[in-house]
Amino acid sequence: MDVVVLLGAPGSGKGTAAARVVQKLGLTPIASGDMLRDAVARQTAAGIEASRYMNSGELVPDALIGRMISDLIEAGSDQARYLLDGFPRTVPQMGILDAILADCGGVLKAAVVIEVADAVVTARLAGRQVCPACKAVYHVATLPPKRAGVCDACAAALVQRTDDLPETIAQRLAVYHRQTEGVIDAYAARGVLKRVDGVGGVDAVAERMTQALK
Ligand code: AMP
Repeated sequence: MDVVVLLGAPGSGKGTAAARVVQKLGLTPIASGDMLRDAVARQTAAGIEASRYMNSGELVPDALIGRMISDLIEAGSDQARYLLDGFPRTVPQMGILDAILADCGGVLKAAVVIEVADAVVTARLAGRQVCPACKAVYHVATLPPKRAGVCDACAAALVQRTDDLPETIAQRLAVYHRQTEGVIDAYAARGVLKRVDGVGGVDAVAERMTQALK
């Protein structure tokens, strides 16, 4: 089993770039934020616990997200090639991923970080709209749906994420700098980090990511 880790600030375009490249690169995406939002929507015990952290822009406890990721990977095939979008986000979560890989003989192929300045991601998040049904992501100014407020792919009504409110965005960015930059430094020290410039159109960023992973 192979794993590629995808890192980047909230609003760096990780999920959008991932959606463009997974097929081309033969990767199965696992987005930790989507898994948590699904758990919240289904009101599972983990979802109820996670929602109070998510709504205030904090990270959920390492053990909670670690268990969800490890259950999913362990239930998958040995031949799987995963793109982990949003996990690990703390140094202890790196340790959890190392343990999962050691348990199932998996290999960390690369860690990619999509780099974008805080001012850019703040503007992106404030205009972001998401499809609650198929998870497609839009932006009111830079990537609008064909019909305002309606998903191009599945026609569901688009929503703004509850954690994309201005004060929560600032908190999420602070958390990213405080907790996730240590992960980036640690993967750089291991020699597996690839840096991708996240400024520009969706296709350009996806192409840079594809090249970085070739
Ligand atoms: P995202 O969709 O990746 O921006 O994640 C949304 C929210 O889910 C984050 O602000 C965190 O509260 C939570 N979350 C997602 N991934 C993780 C993770 N690896 N560790 C802790 N919390 C996470």
